[in-house]
Amino acid sequence: MSMPERRLEPAALRTFIATALVGAGARQTDADAVATHLVDANLKGHDSHGAGRLPAYVDQARRELINLQASPRELTDTAVLIRVDADGGWGAPAAHGLIGRAAAKARAHGLAAATIGNVHHLGRIGAYGEQAAAAGLVSMHFVNMTGEPPVVAPYRGSDARFGTNPVCISFPATQRRPAFLLDMATSQIALGKVRVAANKGLQVPAGSLIDKQGRPTTDPSGMAQAEMEGALTPLGKHKGYGLAFACELLAGVLGGAGTIQPGNARKGGLQNSMFSILVDPDAFGDRAWMEAETDAMAQYALASPPMDWDSPVLYPGDPERAIAGKRAREGIPMDEVTIGQLNAVAENLGLAARL
Ligand code: NAD
Repeated sequence: MSMPERRLEPAALRTFIATALVGAGARQTDADAVATHLVDANLKGHDSHGAGRLPAYVDQARRELINLQASPRELTDTAVLIRVDADGGWGAPAAHGLIGRAAAKARAHGLAAATIGNVHHLGRIGAYGEQAAAAGLVSMHFVNMTGEPPVVAPYRGSDARFGTNPVCISFPATQRRPAFLLDMATSQIALGKVRVAANKGLQVPAGSLIDKQGRPTTDPSGMAQAEMEGALTPLGKHKGYGLAFACELLAGVLGGAGTIQPGNARKGGLQNSMFSILVDPDAFGDRAWMEAETDAMAQYALASPPMDWDSPVLYPGDPERAIAGKRAREGIPMDEVTIGQLNAVAENLGLAARL
């Protein structure tokens, strides 16, 4: 049985979210940036990072886990380096600001490294890869999370010690092909997918979860509770574990706001840190050759005969573009339960706005 759902017009959803965030005390510019980010995640098919986050965001703002008057501070600012302490403020406006400034440095000097810490949830990390790609730059992003308990076990471990620490790599569009965008969590499956499976009474794929005794399980119910029992497993065994660990070091250590180890207070409310590298391809060689080579490699990979002709080989970034095109035309599908939760946020804030 499928849950009833509606299709929401993206601009109307954006206005609703921004209104609610302002109602919760956010500055208009921050509210607009966060609302745009969330709706963009829905448009790209990543509903786990979309409008459904609003209730938690508003709750965290009201519990003062987000600094609504934050003024980001530079820890370092050189020709090719920028490190920002975001003063505990909203993620999307601070991180887009950081990438904008790092992009200017990369264009001037060929490359730039940037970190941001002490910042609320950064959301869909692909948004920052897309921003760099739109500026004609190559980018890499490594993210860790603090503030909340861990959810992913280290390889060979039996309890959670890491966040779902995402990694993103982007390459700008060529004349013939849109941007390459790899943007993924380092857990085998996302926490959001465990919750969805539990709500529907489904099992999760073998190998993606362990229970509270550290034994493999396909039952998502333990991890779907508020007090999570068990852990997600890392993507690709020791390889995803290694990447998740690298995120702790690059984002948490170089970024300056720390790692998920328990010596750092977990106040509640998701906090991220991000380490980004931006590269100007023009500084590395001839752009025309690079574009031709990128296109040739893509054509080669995508020409592999599919095992299943209904599921051809794709270019990373294509799934998001395909769904974005469809949802921009047809609206963003949302189940009535989620719509009800969003309307309750507005009602509790004493606002008239409804979806
Ligand atoms: P996912 O498993 O959907 O993988 C997405 C990536 O794989 C994209 O780059 C997509 O283009 C590519 N892809 C998907 N199918 C493909 C195919 N058949 N062929 C080629 N490429 C394909 O994503 P996920 O790991 O569940 O992550 C979802 C989102 O959650 C990401 O945007 C991530 O940034 C975000 N996230 C954020 C945090 C945070 O703390 N802020 C933590 C974890 C994840």
